[in-house]
Amino acid sequence: MAIQETELIWRNGKMIPWAEATTHVLTHGLHYGTSVFEGMRAYETPNKGVCVFRNPEHIKRFFYSASVYHFDLPYSQDEIMAACRDIVRENGLKSAYIRPIAFLGYGEMGPSSLAAPTDVVISAFPWGAYLGEDGMKNGVDVAISSWRRMAPGTVPAGVKAGGNYLSSRLISVEAKKHGYAEGIGLAHNGTVSEGAGENLFVINDGKVVTPPASDSILNGITRDTVITLLNDLGIDVQEKSFPREFLYGADEIFMTGTAAEVTPVRSVDGIKINHLDLPITKKLQQKFFGLFNGETEDKYGWLDPV
Ligand code: PMP
Repeated sequence: MAIQETELIWRNGKMIPWAEATTHVLTHGLHYGTSVFEGMRAYETPNKGVCVFRNPEHIKRFFYSASVYHFDLPYSQDEIMAACRDIVRENGLKSAYIRPIAFLGYGEMGPSSLAAPTDVVISAFPWGAYLGEDGMKNGVDVAISSWRRMAPGTVPAGVKAGGNYLSSRLISVEAKKHGYAEGIGLAHNGTVSEGAGENLFVINDGKVVTPPASDSILNGITRDTVITLLNDLGIDVQEKSFPREFLYGADEIFMTGTAAEVTPVRSVDGIKINHLDLPITKKLQQKFFGLFNGETEDKYGWLDPV
């Protein structure tokens, strides 16, 4: 999907015109994948105006990702949260995808460089339903990838780093080339891990299960949101490993992510699921999108007005 340009980008503490937000070809991050980033959304709400969703949780993860890769971010978490609000407001956006990124910049080569400067950039632009409006309503067709997710103790899957998305790219492009909306990665040991850019939930006989952190997932903030909302509905969620064939017998499957929001899955590897017309997924979608249309009370303070 082509990026819809906006006016301003926040770079290293200053708002600059979109077209000027360029970088040198010898940028460290470009060569070694040394970047960490976040994907966040802002929504227009009836009671609080335009709000960033779960701003502190995303920025906390951003700083965590940076620390794992030994980046020094020369800002406080509060400053970056404020910049995320500013970029939405100053671009006059009503709803937006927000992309903070920190990367090792220009100045020194070699993967172990500790002297390359850290650049921090925040952009915001419109981005609709990642897996399509039709997919949001009727579900998407997914396939298990032939590529496994990175094993624990290799590259940390729980950190949101640019380099991790080489795995996501392999999984997602393979699926799309075979006509599926998205690919699902298995963990190193063959149990189900997650989608290329989404966490996965499976419902069988009213029980909701999602893979644990040790199965090479990114610990999604939408995943946490959904677990909280399901608990509020009186529905328990178990974090446990499960095999691939568990998917084929599911009553409902849905995927979660900032981009994908809460998207139902209609089939896995050509096997139709969702025989029950999504009673839990639909209730959950109503609760989730209700946070932004005012039907669900923001009782956890997840909406941060810009
Ligand atoms: N897994 C992967 C690999 C992702 O890229 C994403 C999107 N950031 C997610 C899960 C969902 O995370 P979140 O809900 O925090 O966006």
